[in-house]
Amino acid sequence: MPEIPELEAIRGFFNEHLSGSVIATVETRIPPVFRTPAKELRDTLPGDTFGEIGRHGKFLLFGLTSGRTLAINPMLTGRFQYIPAKTRIAAKACLVMGLVGTDDQLRYVDDRLMGKVYLVPGEQLALIPNWESNGPDLLDPALDEEAWVARIKKYRGAIKNVIVKAEFVQGIGNAYSDEILWEARINPYTTRTELTESDLRSLYRAAKTVMAWATPLAAERMIKDGSLNYEERRDFVRVHRRGGEPCPRCGAAISEITANQRITSFCRQCQPGGPSGAVPPR
Ligand SMILES: [Zn+2]
Repeated sequence: MPEIPELEAIRGFFNEHLSGSVIATVETRIPPVFRTPAKELRDTLPGDTFGEIGRHGKFLLFGLTSGRTLAINPMLTGRFQYIPAKTRIAAKACLVMGLVGTDDQLRYVDDRLMGKVYLVPGEQLALIPNWESNGPDLLDPALDEEAWVARIKKYRGAIKNVIVKAEFVQGIGNAYSDEILWEARINPYTTRTELTESDLRSLYRAAKTVMAWATPLAAERMIKDGSLNYEERRDFVRVHRRGGEPCPRCGAAISEITANQRITSFCRQCQPGGPSGAVPPR
């Protein structure tokens, strides 16, 4: 699942390569992902021009000079491609857009078809379900350390479950939550109420540090020779899905626990604590 580092890498790529491009053709190949009628995309997008590409939580926001926004949440398996038209079209390519003056196409591919594609009029992103009830984006400048601490105090339960909640803050998913907690040396099973104010502040700084560290690394792996055509590869992460490997900080074996189809990886030595009942012995 793409998280902030991957989506920021893609956003940067599209701002460089897609802004200013006029849409020539629109093909909607697989219906379930379209939350705005596919016909509307086919009928009204050609002739429109891409403006600035933004991001909000897990949504990539393709601004259009008509004032509308093409908003895409790739969910678990959605991927963006920007590749020559002659490249074979993937079986699960949902949206294929041709552009004026270039042979490259913008494609959205989604193996499990769980992603969501909306075309919304200007300033009406709030029409997207949960847009307003969800919390701020982690990289929103208004979310400073004080705002983070004030927000997080409203939540209880295991800290990992808190930081991945979109109602709290958007953009942190299962993989980078493990990296953030490792960075902050906090056990994922410690409850929010057990953490001190100073822990909550370190957690904020760790979240920012991890995103700044991971974004260029994600970009290196996703962008090759001016093309965006990737399989998600996070070979740089320090703990997530590295169960049994040595912790890069202390050398102890990384623990891995799977619950509710979600993998949590952490270092018991660097991230002590957690209620004894919730963490099975090694
Ligand atoms: Zn360690």
